[in-house]
Amino acid sequence: MIIISVLTLFALGFIAAGILAVASRVLYVEEDPRIEVVTEALPGANCGGCGFAGCESYAVAVLNDPLMPPNLCCAGGPDVSVRVAELTGKAMGDADPKVIFRRCVKDQGGVLKRFQYLGAQSCAAANLVLGGPDACKYSCLGFGDCVRACPFDAMWLENGLVRIAPDKCTSCGSCIRVCPNSILELIPRRARVMVFCSTQDKGKAVKDVCEAGCVNCGACIKKCPAKCISTVNGRIAIDQAACLAYGPECGEACVKACPRDILRCLAPDAVAPAPHKEPAHIPDETHVADLNA
Ligand code: SF4
Ligand code: SF4
Repeated sequence: MIIISVLTLFALGFIAAGILAVASRVLYVEEDPRIEVVTEALPGANCGGCGFAGCESYAVAVLNDPLMPPNLCCAGGPDVSVRVAELTGKAMGDADPKVIFRRCVKDQGGVLKRFQYLGAQSCAAANLVLGGPDACKYSCLGFGDCVRACPFDAMWLENGLVRIAPDKCTSCGSCIRVCPNSILELIPRRARVMVFCSTQDKGKAVKDVCEAGCVNCGACIKKCPAKCISTVNGRIAIDQAACLAYGPECGEACVKACPRDILRCLAPDAVAPAPHKEPAHIPDETHVADLNA
């Protein structure tokens, strides 16, 4: 009886293997060999910064979709973009390198704690408890969900506030996706001005909890000659492309108009120079480093 069972199992296994062998021949689809080549040209970080699940998914898309640009791999930077453009025969297009910026200076504003939080050491968890322990509910929660999400070791915590190393940031955006308070923003590395606060509150409500917070007075909006500044989702936002396109002729009117020093120049050297100085230069990325640290 046992022998018959064993022989039957062997026979079934043999038949199944035969069916699989035939099916693999009949249904065989030849994979585009270029997928492997393009995937190998990508950094293999699988960070999702290109908008795809991983490097191979982007490789498939950039090869098969004629409209898919070759410069979406922020982790790889310009060199990888050039290589992908070469391999796919596509034009490079404009790429304005970006970097993460932290819209919060709660340490300078002296934001106090409303209560002692003893739960899970995670921003997402703390945010579920009345918006977190800070008196400002729009500030950096400081438990480092972004630090853990960053595949490139570009962030760290110091005194309850996240810090960014721009030289390591690839602008993949992984940190943005996990920040409950949306205080992280991608800006062009050559941005001139940035908002150092994320509050959606106004006037007294802000002054009550933070000495450095934006009171949403709108002075910057009124003074910007290029109309680059507006309120988006209840907080001050700068259209960086429009600001860069307008250039330094505005004399950073928004920065001068802000009574709370919330709008600050990221690159003072880039302001229109006096005639005796060297011509204004496109700032390198280090100016952002100083302000996020
Ligand atoms: S930036 Fe956001 S995710 Fe990172 S520590 Fe602050 S609150 Fe948490
Ligand atoms: S700081 Fe944010 S955008 Fe920059 S590499 Fe880390 S996760 Fe990506």
